[in-house]
Amino acid sequence: ATSLTFYYQSRKKERLAANFEPRPIELRSDEILPGVTGLIGNTPLIRINSLSDALGVEILGKAEYLNPGGSVKDRVALRMIDDAEGQGLLRPHTGSRIFEGTVGSTGISIATIARARGYDVTIIMPDDVAEEKVKALLALGADVERVRPASIVDKKQFVNLARQRALAFGQSDGDGKPRLMSTPSSSVVVTTTYENKSEAGSATLEDSEDFLYKPRGFFADQFENRSNHDAHYDGTGPEIWRQTNGNLDAFVTGAGTGGTVAGIGRFVKAKKRDIIVAISDPEGSGLYNKVKYGVMYDSRESEGTKRRHQVDTVVEGIGINRMTNNISLAIPIIDDAFRVTDAEAVSMSRYLVKHDGLFLGSSSACNLVACIKLIKKMGWKDGQTVVTILCDSGMRHYSKVSRRVLGCLGQVMIEKMPFSFLVLER
Ligand code: PMP
Repeated sequence: ATSLTFYYQSRKKERLAANFEPRPIELRSDEILPGVTGLIGNTPLIRINSLSDALGVEILGKAEYLNPGGSVKDRVALRMIDDAEGQGLLRPHTGSRIFEGTVGSTGISIATIARARGYDVTIIMPDDVAEEKVKALLALGADVERVRPASIVDKKQFVNLARQRALAFGQSDGDGKPRLMSTPSSSVVVTTTYENKSEAGSATLEDSEDFLYKPRGFFADQFENRSNHDAHYDGTGPEIWRQTNGNLDAFVTGAGTGGTVAGIGRFVKAKKRDIIVAISDPEGSGLYNKVKYGVMYDSRESEGTKRRHQVDTVVEGIGINRMTNNISLAIPIIDDAFRVTDAEAVSMSRYLVKHDGLFLGSSSACNLVACIKLIKKMGWKDGQTVVTILCDSGMRHYSKVSRRVLGCLGQVMIEKMPFSFLVLER
């Protein structure tokens, strides 16, 4: 206690001597924002001090966990809903319902926005994801259906079930794919179609008021829906470009649906071709092999067993074993890939808490491990800049990370291995 008192007294003297004024916290935006969706995007880029100082390379993280729904997926959920409304596939306050298959983050983002827009939400998710996400979804008023992890070729796989549920609820097309409606949704059109109906008797079901205002189901389909890519191509990518003044040497991120790497990667590559776009790929994911050797390491059938039971035990949200629309857009622009083990990801997550006060989710930690592997491989140490995504906070993964830390990896190992896990790719 005495030495602490001494410490505080001397700090106080220092502050007085330096005429210390605490810096006021500045408002990030002085506009009045239009409700919760106004908080989405425009996230800050932060320097990861411990790693940047140690390596001599600027490692910058896009603080996506500051979005109101707590993850990078807010951007995607907003864009998918906006686009669906624009296409007349969803209409607010009609009792319509959004369905999605997700390991959690996208569901939470959809539920957040849906509440603000007047939609109900059904989320189908595997039953082995972190409890925190389920609690958040229920608190946001979503209906949650948890299913046994299964392969994508299984009808009961969570994404397939979400599609089926949307169709059963009354999604207007027969094949589960988002469809452009032929009539724009305005009251003028309703009146016109009614006139058509009575005069010519030629109106279809789609033209009737009954159809336009009927509650409908919408399968958001983040894996295949291009709005996912567009959210990043039009939003996150340009923001990063602005925030770095175009001074970036590499962009590194993981892929769950591929939307982030496709949108941001394609945007920055279009601006500057020699920016390296690299993937952080967790254990059990096939993307590393796809990038390195042109083939997925595993078939679609193995997804339910290999990926879900290995990757997602600790690292949630990234890793993929099949080609989706969004990841297909990214493949031509991905230059490199780095495998990241669960142990490396958890070690990094603990390391960042200890040295930077940053408690990040496992996919963010994976990304930072991959940043270091890339920097080491390239031999960079002269102030190059690498940008990555801090997808969500560690709070959302706490039960898993701590259980894993204590049960499988061991506290001692975590504390002692700040950089020893950096095995270079050969
Ligand atoms: N991190 C987390 C926590 C996620 O939930 C996701 C999305 N599944 C990602 C990263 C990967 O993003 P994307 O789907 O754009 O590849």
